[in-house]
Amino acid sequence: MTKRNEKISDVIFERVALIGLGLIGGSIGLAAKRAGIVSHVAGYARSKETRDVALERGLIDSAYDSAAAAVKDADLVVLCTPVGVLGDVAADIKESLKPGAVLTDVGSVKMAVVDAVMPHVPEGVHFIPGHPVAGTEHSGPHAGFAELFTDRWCILTPLAAQSSDAYSKAVNDLDTFWAACGSNVDRMDPKHHDLVLAITSHVPHLIAYNIVGTADDLETVTKSEVVKYSASGFRDFTRIAASDPTMWRDIFLNNKDAVLEMLTRFNEDLSALQRAIRWGDGDALFNLFTRTRDIRRSIIEAGQDSDEPDFGRSHAHFVTPEDEN
Ligand code: NAP
Repeated sequence: MTKRNEKISDVIFERVALIGLGLIGGSIGLAAKRAGIVSHVAGYARSKETRDVALERGLIDSAYDSAAAAVKDADLVVLCTPVGVLGDVAADIKESLKPGAVLTDVGSVKMAVVDAVMPHVPEGVHFIPGHPVAGTEHSGPHAGFAELFTDRWCILTPLAAQSSDAYSKAVNDLDTFWAACGSNVDRMDPKHHDLVLAITSHVPHLIAYNIVGTADDLETVTKSEVVKYSASGFRDFTRIAASDPTMWRDIFLNNKDAVLEMLTRFNEDLSALQRAIRWGDGDALFNLFTRTRDIRRSIIEAGQDSDEPDFGRSHAHFVTPEDEN
């Protein structure tokens, strides 16, 4: 594990190409430029509007209307599009990648991304899948900010089959890059990554989408009552359920096995809770709620959330630091 702000060289990658300039791509551009670890950031997004905003906001130094043109001569290429198109993007850029370049991605799922991208990685290019566990429910080129990764984890899932010295150096360079962007960096097997994120992020998002959908479908409670009386519990679910539909569709379609495995466990435990309520088993409820309160305390102690009342919402400058996607 690399702790952020460990010894960082001046420039780690001369030329970086960001493919996708939304919340994550934009934040990488800002964080890397702020840290002074890159000399030039080139960027590609599908729409001219996104490219124009990215230039205006200084997320990138130059914009390209094709991914292949953007990656030319880049020492580091970061794929920041939705997970479902990463394979197509890799196919588009494969002929233009510089020999020796480091290729990484930020996708919230890792096994499916390795399967989709790896077939297009040319000999001599070092592909190191990654996932910055940081985000908000906002998306697009206006959403990025330089502090997004500060004190958040970034998980790298280097490929076990790659054991050359050059690959190890590439992994170390990428590790240092993320640390300079503010992250604490960890390494993990891609399959394990997908299981961990299924329970910490993907299933919670599914529950949020489901409960907000259920409330919207209710016939006995009106939509205006749901909005008017949204107590903090429901309100927090609506924030998560406002996350980008394309990104989350792709996550569920591409982390199917791990999500279904965790949902089976979830459903069993939900049935046990249902039974405890039906049979008036207060001890079972009390014991679980005591255990879950301890988990919340551990998250705060680990600096992964605020213990201010209402998540510090009353403070104008508080940036919601959650959504481990
Ligand atoms: P975003 O804000 O919606 O930005 C997506 C970018 O990808 C945009 O620049 C978009 O271009 C481009 N794009 C979309 N579809 C494309 C396609 N079919 N072909 C080429 N480019 C396309 O998304 P994001 O939140 O930054 O997420 C990007 C990646 O980061 C995803 O893989 C996600 O799993 C991962 N991630 C997200 C979070 C999070 O909290 N949001 C956290 C960690 C990791 P246009 O603007 O021109 O449409």
